[in-house]
Amino acid sequence: MEHLIFGAGRDKEATAAPYGVRGRRHRPEAGAGYARGLPGVANIGYIQVVRHCNHFCGFCSNPTTPYTHDFASMATLVDDFVARDYFGVILTGGEPTLHPELPRIAAYAAGKGLHVRVITNGHRLADRSFARALADAGVALAHVSIYSVHPKVEAQLRGMDGTLPRALEALDAAHEAGIELNVNCVINRLNADHLDDNIRYLIRHHPQVRHFVWNNLDPSMGRAQVNQEQFTPRLADFELSLHRAMRLLHRSGRTFRVEKVPLCYMTDFAWASTETRKIVKAEERIVHFLDDKQTVRQTEWGHRYAEACGVCSLRSICGGLFDRGDGYDPEELAPVFIDRDAIVAAIVSDDADPSEGEVRSLEQWRARQQVPQPSRSGPVPGDGLVAVGRVTDRGRRLYEAKQRSEATKAERLGVAQELPEADE
Ligand code: SF4
Repeated sequence: MEHLIFGAGRDKEATAAPYGVRGRRHRPEAGAGYARGLPGVANIGYIQVVRHCNHFCGFCSNPTTPYTHDFASMATLVDDFVARDYFGVILTGGEPTLHPELPRIAAYAAGKGLHVRVITNGHRLADRSFARALADAGVALAHVSIYSVHPKVEAQLRGMDGTLPRALEALDAAHEAGIELNVNCVINRLNADHLDDNIRYLIRHHPQVRHFVWNNLDPSMGRAQVNQEQFTPRLADFELSLHRAMRLLHRSGRTFRVEKVPLCYMTDFAWASTETRKIVKAEERIVHFLDDKQTVRQTEWGHRYAEACGVCSLRSICGGLFDRGDGYDPEELAPVFIDRDAIVAAIVSDDADPSEGEVRSLEQWRARQQVPQPSRSGPVPGDGLVAVGRVTDRGRRLYEAKQRSEATKAERLGVAQELPEADE
């Protein structure tokens, strides 16, 4: 799955960062705990519609599996999101544009009132007629993944040449078709030093892109797990270039989100942290993985906290260190002593955010913190009952053929292939 979290529209200037400096002394706030169950929250769910891809990223966290979807199995998941009163659905993969029924399932979801998005590497979206077909089907927003505007780096990350011009072409094709655009970027060891180069280039050459999403690499799954040494960055590797990139975007009036980055590495723009926004707004996320994991419902947004976090003023709204896969070092965390409430206020009063809830002011948020919220953890009716995709003989044959062809690519590129699915 190409990574992403949502966001569209334009943050108000009032959401400008509450500034702070790591390591400054301060009395921390009392822990506020996590709020849950905001009425009116606009949750967005994910469906992996395929797991194969026409690229071969050495850090792919959702590579090929034997599972496949047909229209009926995807429609079942769409219906489930509708029943849960979700705001939208993100059709992802693998590379979702490789599913022959992507336009049909997009139209089905749009017809049910969902805001429909796709996450794509842009290879097929660069085709004008395909972009038009998706727009006609009701795809409102495309997240095009671009990791580096340095062609050689992008080719190395993608495992093949020529991907960058194609992805850039997709930005124009989608825009012409009337599809709103985000650019997604997985932060990794190879692009960590030039995240701002990407932004500078895209602002200049593709001004239609108004929102950007960074995801720090998830080193716990797929090829990312077995190639950690090559691709997992240190937090310090990207801190400065990420800051420069966020500053460029903010000054240009564009918006952005950042996931799996602790707040002490993005203090000036803490309001843009995906985890922090979800903690503050008590959002949930359901991902229908097309693999043995099946459905994962996430209601808790905290990862791992170091001892230092205990004195940090942002502890109660910070996602901490992404700990799955043991790719990141808690020693890199350092407490900050800045005004948590200014960050909360910027988030809850951001009326450009499509997921705004009923809590619209800091005072309302504080009041809600005083009221015990029902736990939303654990299964809810319907969870785990809907099968995600199927493993058929044909699906297994295709999977095995793909594994063989990717073994050749992996050897040529000097990366390891992912571990097989548990039941293989
Ligand atoms: S809570 Fe921990 S991870 Fe988060 S900003 Fe503070 S020190 Fe960093």
